[in-house]
Amino acid sequence: MRVPDSFVRLVSEPAWDLWEGSVRLQTLKDLERSQWLAPAELAARQRTGLQEIVRHVTATSPFYAERFATAGIDPARVESVADLADLPLLTKDDVRGRLDDILSRDFKRAELVPAKTGGSTGVALHIFCDRKGVERRNASALRSDEWSGWRRGQPLAAVWGNPPVARTWRGRLRCTLKDRVIYLDTMKIDDAAIDRFLDDWRRARPGLLYGHAHSIFIFCEALRERGATVHPHGIVATSMMLLDHERRVIEEVCGTPVTNRYGCEEVSLIACECERHEGMHLNAEHSIVEFLRDDGSPCAAGEDGRIVVTELVNRGMPMIRYEVGDRGAPSDRVCPCGRGLPMMEGLSGRTADFLRAADGSQVAGISLIENTLTRFPGIRQLQLVQERELAVDVNLVPGEGYGPETADRLTDSLRDALGADFAVELKIVERISQERSGKYRFSICRL
Ligand SMILES: [Zn+2]
Repeated sequence: MRVPDSFVRLVSEPAWDLWEGSVRLQTLKDLERSQWLAPAELAARQRTGLQEIVRHVTATSPFYAERFATAGIDPARVESVADLADLPLLTKDDVRGRLDDILSRDFKRAELVPAKTGGSTGVALHIFCDRKGVERRNASALRSDEWSGWRRGQPLAAVWGNPPVARTWRGRLRCTLKDRVIYLDTMKIDDAAIDRFLDDWRRARPGLLYGHAHSIFIFCEALRERGATVHPHGIVATSMMLLDHERRVIEEVCGTPVTNRYGCEEVSLIACECERHEGMHLNAEHSIVEFLRDDGSPCAAGEDGRIVVTELVNRGMPMIRYEVGDRGAPSDRVCPCGRGLPMMEGLSGRTADFLRAADGSQVAGISLIENTLTRFPGIRQLQLVQERELAVDVNLVPGEGYGPETADRLTDSLRDALGADFAVELKIVERISQERSGKYRFSICRL
């Protein structure tokens, strides 16, 4: 029997939270109000949040106590993120090598909720968050899910690699009364899997379709081939790079706009589009995002830089000035939706996945792909891999109209961008394979 959506929203979900003593729905209520506050009021709250977490980390985390002392920063005098300019960034190496010292002494390790990052940059990171922090993080995810058009209580459809399976009675009950998620495992998408997923879809009638952008795209292409459609109220694409042409295909097939979201396991949700889809709002109540030039100074609006996040809600494993490893630009635009949450211009890719041109400059591989993919006929998908200087390997999934001319034009345009002497090795493949985490990467630099 299908539990009515309104019953889940009004009865079983709040009851579940109450039973678990969770602050999730209360936090959601707060966030739904605070998003409309004036930018100055939100900035003031951010400063208060920053002061609190700085006091907390310097008192309970040996790593930060040492870092602040070495940098000569008095925690009592920190008023804004500008006062942390002399604090070294928290790197993935720090997280890997100093985990025990970063964790707050206020929590026992067993009380923290563990997570492991996919390890697409080579080595996996072990990450922890305290339980209340997880609940607050979930609340901000819920808020941005609702920006997509989905309403809390409606079932979800996830296009995801290695979906979790409920093994305990509590897990199964939770699935019936609260989460109600159907999954398409992106590790094995074939006709039979899509048939099963569409059967589940008809039964569950999910309001939200979510997953990595490219996985949703593959699913929608498969639907298009068989002349099928699905009509969720919202679509949330969670991987950082949502390619324009993929967005178009998804929106065409589902008749619903795609809501692009940016986040990572380490500091959770960083930014998300609202219903206007005119850029991403930063998750300002829960984190402070800096965009930095290579010399460490802050970027101007529209200027591309390194993304650095200070999360305000994880007290178990505080992340202060964490260098995410992505590049993007801040924005001074005001969204017509009326929310006071600041915006970012967009993402230009992972720091590690910028290709190195012949003259040593960094080229955003994702932009190269967007420029070529839709311009030349016969290219369905592209992946660029740079293993050495002056060479790039291209994995190409051919589409209708592919021919020798396609390959020539593609090679020419890559040489235009990277250097005339670049060796371009073209390989025709059936599909771009995904990483173990289920994510796709289209531009990979291994230099
Ligand atoms: Zn907006």
